This record gives sequence, structure tokens and C-alpha cells, in this order.
Amino acid sequence: MLHAIPTDQLGPLGEPMAKAVSACVHCGFCLAACPTYRELGQEMDTPRGRIVLMKEVLEGKMSVEAAQPHVDRCLGCLACEPACPSGVPYRDLISPFRALAAKKMKRGLLERMRRFLAAQTVPFPGRFRLAAMMGRIGRMGLMPKSWRAMLELMPETLPPAQTWEAHYAAQGEKRARVALLLGCAQQVLDPDINTATIEVLTRNGVEVVIPRSQGCCGGLAWHTGDLEAARAFARQNLDAFPDDVDAILTNAAGCGSAMHEYHLVLRGTPDETRAEAFRHRVMDVSVFLARLGLREPLREMKLKAAYHDACHLSNAQNVRKQPRDLLKAIPGLQLLEIADAHLCCGSAGSYNMDQPEIASSLGEQKAKHILATGAEVVVTGNIGCMTQVRLHLKKLGAPVQVKHTMQVLQEAHQPG
Ligand code: SF4
Ligand code: SF4
Repeated sequence: MLHAIPTDQLGPLGEPMAKAVSACVHCGFCLAACPTYRELGQEMDTPRGRIVLMKEVLEGKMSVEAAQPHVDRCLGCLACEPACPSGVPYRDLISPFRALAAKKMKRGLLERMRRFLAAQTVPFPGRFRLAAMMGRIGRMGLMPKSWRAMLELMPETLPPAQTWEAHYAAQGEKRARVALLLGCAQQVLDPDINTATIEVLTRNGVEVVIPRSQGCCGGLAWHTGDLEAARAFARQNLDAFPDDVDAILTNAAGCGSAMHEYHLVLRGTPDETRAEAFRHRVMDVSVFLARLGLREPLREMKLKAAYHDACHLSNAQNVRKQPRDLLKAIPGLQLLEIADAHLCCGSAGSYNMDQPEIASSLGEQKAKHILATGAEVVVTGNIGCMTQVRLHLKKLGAPVQVKHTMQVLQEAHQPG
């Protein structure tokens, strides 16, 4: 017994947390991979340091308040997982710990208000659109720094609201049937990503179903410690997505990663078993298409494209090869790699609001690395990364376009 965590008192998430803590042998191999260690240079802002802090809190030897600043600074990027030779499942510790801490710790009024507003707007496309428009109109200068940082990410003008059919037929011979999660922020900030996804799928013989009653993936709630809200969103999606599809597809890495954790979100509830089955049916669209194979011809595109690994695709879902393979299939496209590819761009859900300085520094570094590749376009699979990278490239005055993998494939499917 390497720890004295009272798992029996911590509810259903106690055991996964204790197992993650026990697996850490404190070797420190994860330190170099951790963006907050690179930024702050402090042991307590490393994966190893945070594991020790969380262990102390779970064992009742330290207050939540003492550990929380370091836990709050964690991006949840999971770069520590592939770097760890002992296979510490850090994801089984960080989000459950945040749920536990949220119950025990009282934050300041402004912070509580900010968290409440984010939780009540971002997961609901209609409200998020309204809030984004009001925020743009409002006096940004009068807002707290953290709120301004989030609004900076919003485009100058929002694209028009888009509605979706319940069903899109496969073109030509049908090869598969899938259901698609639309993504809350994505629908508002860049609905064209869903249009491109649906077009690429249907052109390649895939029937696409859009469940009407789908909701937010619950990622924001889960990663900020709002377990009840995360559970409600997870249950909504368990009910909404049909059984008669070959896969449940996501085209935003953050949403896919959250849906892969439904078994943990619903652990110890009557829905745990179906959450376990559900998560195995969830797949990023790039994985699905790489497995299925592109049937439609791709036109030549003379383009220098850098691929940016979204942490919630690469680290959380181990998806690195598939989007690159799809892009490499485009004749003439030169695929470029970005230095320090494993480092988070600083987007990480609401991190821009929570930790604006670190988020901004990471965003600037990522933009500089992208610029150094000489790419004309940077391609990725997550709306959060896209908005963050776009903002920081703009700040550098760099004329590099930012596109989703599906948008590039959609272009490649158009006749030249
Ligand atoms: S690499 Fe893994 S085992 Fe080593 S300190 Fe980091 S989390 Fe712990
Ligand atoms: S999730 Fe990212 S920021 Fe958090 S400890 Fe791991 S590497 Fe560091």
C-alpha cells in the first residue's frame, strides 16, 4: 500500500484516483513534456508535483486551497501520459480531483460568477452566440482580464447561424452509417467545419445522422469539476445517439476526448455500463475515414500545410497518424511538422479565461513554431486550437490560414 487514500469515503471516483496516485514512481520523466513546468519552472506545476499535492489532499494531510492554484494551472493537455514510462493514468486523477475539490472549496465571488456564466453559456449554442455578440458589443476595456482574454478569441463577426438536417444520404453506394456530434462552440464559431465533415463523409459513401436531442459533450463541466452537469450532458447523449450506426463521430478533439471518458463521469451510477459501451463507439472523424479509406478522387493542391496536434486528439485519443495520412493522400500537398509538436497551444477549454498569461505565452510560442515551418496553412482537428492559433498568428501579423482537416479534404474533393 503506497498511499493511505480513504477510497471508501471518496465515492465512486476514489478508486481510480488512488490507482493513478499509486502508479506514479516519481521518476520525473514527465517533467520535460509538461507545458506549465516549461513556463513556470516549479516542481509543484509538474505532473509529478501535482500528483503529490492531490495525494496529500486525498489523504487529508493538506487543504484543497493549498493545492488548488497548482491544480488550476494544469491544462489537462495530458502530454504527461505518453511521456510516462509507468503508464500513470493522469486523466483518472485530474478531473475526478477537480470534481471533489469543487465541493470542498469556496472560490471568490467574481471567480464563481465567471465560472457560472461560462457553464451557462458555452455548452448551449444559442446562448453562446448571444453572449459572444453581446461581449463584442460591450466595453471590453471594462471587463476583468480573464473575460477579455476569452472575448479576444471570438471572431470580429460571427458566421450566420446554421441549421442541420436530421439525416444526410450517402452519395453513390452506401458504405457506412454514422451519427455526428455537432459541438456547441464549434457550431457558433465555425459551422463550416460541420458542413465540410458532412460533405466529405457523404461523398465517400457514408450516411450521416444528426440526432436532434444531442447536447454538449460535457467536457467543459467535467474539466472544471462540475460533476453533476457533466453527468447530465453524458446521459443526454447516451439517450440521444442511436444504436443502429457504425460509429458515433466527433470532429472536435475536446468533445471526442470528453465522450471517451463517459465511463468515468458516470462511474458508480446506473448508467456506468452503457457509458462504457458508448465510449467504444465514439471515434474522431479522421480515424473513421482513415479506416474506411477515401473513395472519392482528390485533386492536386499545391499547398504547404503544417499539421498541429490537438492535445485531446494526440495525447487523449492517441490519434496522430490518421489525420496526417488523410492529408498526405492529397496530391501536391506538402505536410510539414511543427517543432515541439507535443506542447499545448494554450487553448484547453476555458484555460484562456482561467490562466490568461500562460495561455497567451503558449499561444505565442505555438504561432512562432508554425511560422518557422513556412506553411501557408495550419491544419488541425479542434475548434479550440483553431481559434487560439488564429488569434496568435494574427498578433504576429502572419498570413497563415487555419483550417480543420475536414475543410482541407472538402477542398481536395472539389474539381480543380
Ligand atoms: S513520468 Fe509518470 S511515474 Fe514518473 S513522475 Fe511522471 S507521472 Fe510519475
Ligand atoms: S495535463 Fe498537461 S499541464 Fe497538466 S500536468 Fe499533464 S502535461 Fe502538465
